[in-house]
Amino acid sequence: MAYETLVGLEIHVELSTKTKIFCGCSNEFGKDANTQCCPVCLGLPGALPVLNKAVVEYAIKAGLAFNCDIAIDSRMDRKNYFYPDLVKGFQISQNDIPLCSNGYIEIDTEEGPKKIRIRRIHIEEDTGKSIHTESGDSLLDYNRSGVPLIEIVTEPDINSKEEAQKFLESLKSTLQYIEVSDCKMEEGSLRCDININVVDDERNIKSKITEVKNLNSFSAVGKAIEYEEKRHIALLEEGKNTLRETRRWNEVDNETIVMRSKAEAADYRYGVEPDIAPIKIDPEWIEDIRKTMPELPRQKKARFIEEYGIPEYDAEVLTQSKDLSHFFEETVGLSEDPKQVSNWVMGDVLRRLNDEGVEVKDLKFTPKDLADLLKLINEGKISNNIGKKVLREMFETGKKPDDIVKEQGLVQISDESQLREVVSKILEENEQSVIDYKNGKTRAMGFIIGQVMKATRGKANPQLVNEIVKEMLDEK
Ligand code: ZN
Ligand code: MN
Repeated sequence: MAYETLVGLEIHVELSTKTKIFCGCSNEFGKDANTQCCPVCLGLPGALPVLNKAVVEYAIKAGLAFNCDIAIDSRMDRKNYFYPDLVKGFQISQNDIPLCSNGYIEIDTEEGPKKIRIRRIHIEEDTGKSIHTESGDSLLDYNRSGVPLIEIVTEPDINSKEEAQKFLESLKSTLQYIEVSDCKMEEGSLRCDININVVDDERNIKSKITEVKNLNSFSAVGKAIEYEEKRHIALLEEGKNTLRETRRWNEVDNETIVMRSKAEAADYRYGVEPDIAPIKIDPEWIEDIRKTMPELPRQKKARFIEEYGIPEYDAEVLTQSKDLSHFFEETVGLSEDPKQVSNWVMGDVLRRLNDEGVEVKDLKFTPKDLADLLKLINEGKISNNIGKKVLREMFETGKKPDDIVKEQGLVQISDESQLREVVSKILEENEQSVIDYKNGKTRAMGFIIGQVMKATRGKANPQLVNEIVKEMLDEK
């Protein structure tokens, strides 16, 4: 029973254009309910939509970033269904001619690089939002109505939760690099549904595809894939099968539950949207857009490995965000050792950013400041550990590393005679440790070194202390 899992993803991404897709209303997130609406986004009779050119441009950028063909001739279609948050009774979308098609995203797997094909990327409008209150009322906020979306649909080329997560990470960082979306899942800017089934080719058995909606994090995507995989296989092993249905992810109980059966699926009665002219794209415009495309995360990763000789893992982490990659590169430009810079940026800097939910652009210190800090360490003016302490201060106050070191008297003690004095005092105070050392308990040396560091408030040059302690103990 060698089952293979097949997963396809459908991702809705809100574009960060200034205005909505068919009107001039602001596209800013988080404003008071129903303050960013006009007759067009409310679907009032007689209101006419006008396609926002920036939406087409953003979608083309995404298409180019994901290696798609761009349709020179496409159009908008009406997708009819009823839902309270859909004011017009239809959504303006694209049906049979999407703006972009036949693309792919390449991810790295244990077996090497793998292409996940993208079937299509089309543009459409977002719906309003229903808010269900604790008292049982349902409220409607139409600010989101008419927010521009791209819907990205993959082929079922994803075979595991790891692949799904890698794909999504790559998708997200690429969209952020080309600045078409902020991709904030917590604000609904990136929403993901999965289609999943399992197949056993040898026995010619397969489960029916189920769809899972309401996944609000990449980790939820992973958990839902694992959950469905097990559920599908268990049913097949019992001689049963899954039903073609839509399920939703229940975060509290970590399970998927049935939302609706596909048999009840609406017939959307797609038809051409008569109020919007066909979309004709000048190939020269596509080429102009192509010229403005920045270096994408995957290319940058390869270049970092090649140019700076850092490990693949480092390059992956450093290029996930455009701002972080810039910060790294600027620091490297001002210092000597790329791997040292990578260690500090991936380690202390990134950890602190994540812990406090701070963005790189809001850091109080600059790449130059970090480079100056590393210089202090490399010149032996401060130890590595004191360096970490200085960095903490830089995070909080934005003070220059030089000033912090001076103000707090953190300059490393590398004066041998001064250190010998401290060591001999510590040895006198800790006779038992000296005896232990003589009796072969080498751990006692570590204790002595610790005491010396403590006595100097961490400022003693650790290497020098090591040498002196060993020498003086051996002399005893
Ligand atoms: Zn509007
Ligand atoms: Mn859609």
